[in-house]
Amino acid sequence: KRGWIEVICGAMFSGKTEELIRRLNRAKIARQQIEIFKPALDTRYHLEDIVSHNTTAIRSTPVNFAHDMLLLGSSCDVVGIDEAQFFDEGLIEVCDILANRGIRVIAAGLDMDYLGKPFGPMPALMAVAEYVTKVHAVCVCCGDIASYSFRVAVSDERILLGETDLYQARCRNCFLEGMKQE
Ligand code: ADP
Ligand code: MG
Repeated sequence: KRGWIEVICGAMFSGKTEELIRRLNRAKIARQQIEIFKPALDTRYHLEDIVSHNTTAIRSTPVNFAHDMLLLGSSCDVVGIDEAQFFDEGLIEVCDILANRGIRVIAAGLDMDYLGKPFGPMPALMAVAEYVTKVHAVCVCCGDIASYSFRVAVSDERILLGETDLYQARCRNCFLEGMKQE
């Protein structure tokens, strides 16, 4: 059996979780054994479920460290990971080991933080993945394709969990405009 790594990346509201759930549901239909993880610190909406902004949900296991997935995800065909950007750098090794064992690994996460900088383990994970899909949101200012997550709230914490009240999907131009006004 051959494994591989798929990455789904993009800004907030770009449909990463939707796309992850879509792929996992199709794997289920094909009778694949699936295991889904998310970092324990992401507690929006629900402690265990993975929930997309259009409110589809799927059961997942919250874990504290990337390496926790090795033990829990060892006896399945497909491993799904949401909010991958919040994991430690061990994530790359863990995904590699799982894929080497013949597991299909699908990881969804933000490729950039609110400053437009590569987020956590995502750039390195994208480098080792066989497939990288970048999905896009709609810019709330002008309607163009959005690849940036603009932080409306004033805070310089790198990790600030939140929703439409805190973040906006923006295109490059409107993101730059917003950053100028800071
Ligand atoms: P992500 O996991 O990338 O944050 P989700 O899969 O949770 O995204 O949510 C995607 C959904 O968010 C869309 O189907 C749409 O209903 C909703 N949404 C809210 N704001 C926007 C936006 N600005 N652009 C696109 N979709 C948006
Ligand atoms: Mg999501």
